[in-house]
Amino acid sequence: MRVLVIGTGNRKKGQELGRLLAKVGTELRTLADFPHAIEVVEDGNTFAANAALKASRQAKHLGQWVLADDSGLAVDYLGGAPGVFSARYSDPNATDDRNNEKLLDALRKVPADERWAQFVCHICVSDPSGTIQAESEASCRGRILPKLDGQGGFGYDPLFEIVEYHRSFGLLSPLVKSHLSHRARAMTRIIPQLVELIVSHH
Ligand code: IMP
Repeated sequence: MRVLVIGTGNRKKGQELGRLLAKVGTELRTLADFPHAIEVVEDGNTFAANAALKASRQAKHLGQWVLADDSGLAVDYLGGAPGVFSARYSDPNATDDRNNEKLLDALRKVPADERWAQFVCHICVSDPSGTIQAESEASCRGRILPKLDGQGGFGYDPLFEIVEYHRSFGLLSPLVKSHLSHRARAMTRIIPQLVELIVSHH
């Protein structure tokens, strides 16, 4: 595995994954390096199913090793919504702003101690034949703030309070997010598997 392709079209998510993968020591590419990359339809019911679809379909298509994540926000009060629909919560052409607005509306008047939620991230790595060779999942708990706070990160970050820090992911630095987030934790769990794959496929 000389080259590993980060299989996401989301630029900010790609940057986070790239930073977290930097120490693995394989050559990293993104989908921007492959103009003929496909847009994988995420029609699975779980983060695990969608991450596997994104990694294996793209890997087979490109003939490359591909790492893909599927992630989202699960709000306790909403029974785990928006979940796998996080990216398109407000409408099919959702923007981060509209998604955040819809979430604030759904939780209007809900008190702070009932606003708990978690970000979840499932990561899959596929070999060029489309077979999943490594996977991991992790989550990060926090509370949905009553209004936007901060400009950093992406998606629901300005509404997601890390309670121990009294700050949202929108205010905390990328360095702090790179230690605490669901994506960081899932990556920490998959890195030993990746290192083994690199050694065995050398
Ligand atoms: P995916 O590209 O299908 O995995 O969509 C994930 C969606 O979940 C994103 O578009 C965001 O709305 C949300 N999301 C996932 N990870 C994060 C994060 O780290 N911060 C904020 N929102 C996130």
